[in-house]
Amino acid sequence: MTKPVVAIVGRPNVGKSTIFNRIIGERLSIVEDIPGVTRDRIYASAQWTGHEFHLIDTGGIDIGDEPLLTQIREQAEIAIDEADVIIFVVDGKEGLTVADEDVANILFRSKKPTILAVNKIDNFEMREQIYEFYSLGFGEPIPVSGTHGIGIGDLLDEVVSHFPNIESEEYDEDVIRFCLIGRPNVGKSSLVNNILGRERVIVSNIAGTTRDAIDTPFEKDGQKYVIIDTAGMRKRGRIYESTEKYSVLRALRAIERSDVALLILDAEEGVTEQDKKIAGYAHEAGRAMIIVVNKWDAIEKDHKTMQNFEEKIRDEMQFISYAPILFVSAITKQRLHTILPTVQLVAENHALRIKTNLLNEMLMDAIAMTPTPTDKGKRLKINYMTQVSVKPPTFVLFVNDPELLHFSYRRFLENKIRDTFGFKGTPIRIIVRKKND
Ligand code: GDP
Ligand code: GDP
Repeated sequence: MTKPVVAIVGRPNVGKSTIFNRIIGERLSIVEDIPGVTRDRIYASAQWTGHEFHLIDTGGIDIGDEPLLTQIREQAEIAIDEADVIIFVVDGKEGLTVADEDVANILFRSKKPTILAVNKIDNFEMREQIYEFYSLGFGEPIPVSGTHGIGIGDLLDEVVSHFPNIESEEYDEDVIRFCLIGRPNVGKSSLVNNILGRERVIVSNIAGTTRDAIDTPFEKDGQKYVIIDTAGMRKRGRIYESTEKYSVLRALRAIERSDVALLILDAEEGVTEQDKKIAGYAHEAGRAMIIVVNKWDAIEKDHKTMQNFEEKIRDEMQFISYAPILFVSAITKQRLHTILPTVQLVAENHALRIKTNLLNEMLMDAIAMTPTPTDKGKRLKINYMTQVSVKPPTFVLFVNDPELLHFSYRRFLENKIRDTFGFKGTPIRIIVRKKND
């Protein structure tokens, strides 16, 4: 599902990130923390009154060593490009500034729906301070206080009322949607060209269905695929090239629309922080994943190189230990033929359903082998387990007391499920419920 994108814009210190955190706050607390992945809080999913959307804090996008005004402008441009609705934040305590007017001019020309939020209106007496902002030309300013959580509901009501009608998913269930993500120059375009070049004859049409990616449907060995390609979209302007975080945003939206994400690494460079971040998002989004090490031709090798490389990747990205690793070269075409079968395999696992009786046989075996833990004299009792959904496979475990299921036993069960049923390439989720008796 393509969700609308909301971007928060405004000069520094008006309270953008405070409002961002306020809007996503509750969600973040329920998401698992992934060890080894620093969460940069510029992009998150959120929802309000049943509307789901993505939220971007453009203030967190690092533009580089530009003069302040240039940075503010470029952030506003990004918001205009990416967002369906813009939240323009100003500071009610400080009042209207030249920089605010500058931002306003850029936003105004874009004709994107823009909601003006006057922040730091911490109490009722301060409400009068919103009036001077009428002159910015965005209609009635909404008074909010990011730190106190005042007015955020009114703001979001206004935001969701401007959401476009986004058509629901464009592809049939049997189509595998996948994307290639990774830093600039790792070889994404070369790989896409190779994958498609070979199949070009049966490419039906090249559809530019969305603004931020080029979708290319094709068929191979009776399987339908769509490549969601973000790489080709990079060449639109300077900021697209220079802003690392911005290419992350692109990748995240592609991940969102995919079943399988191929994380492309450069053999000459190994794993970077940004790779970990993107992988972390794909993991959280519940997508199947493959790690593709490209440019394998470009490094000196002996019989241990591949194994060492693999160990290093596993060590750096333990949270996606389920992802297969392929070593390829877009130039020499080495092992390129393994990519699509692997995509197909992990997509199948991503959609795999296991019958309840088989799960419970496995569960009994597991408990017999490794008894459930006890805490303060009370033993965890697992009644049964059932799979409630796919993409990713999600299991519900009914127990006497969810508190007793510690992390290590949860991981033991996850490993047991994987050992018994496969699930290579896909994250799996285990939800724990108290059994009502
Ligand atoms: P950003 O640079 O626009 O992302 O601004 P921040 O969210 O980092 O906030 C800048 C400063 O304003 C911080 O010291 C915040 O604590 C403060 N601030 C943010 N929202 C409010 C608010 O609603 N009321 C008051 N009084 N201060 C706020
Ligand atoms: P993208 O930015 O991720 O789409 O990367 P490109 O596909 O544009 O490739 C970036 C550069 O890496 C180009 O100069 C390619 O020729 C080169 N390149 C891509 N794949 C390989 C490979 O397998 N081996 C080597 N040696 N170079 C490659």
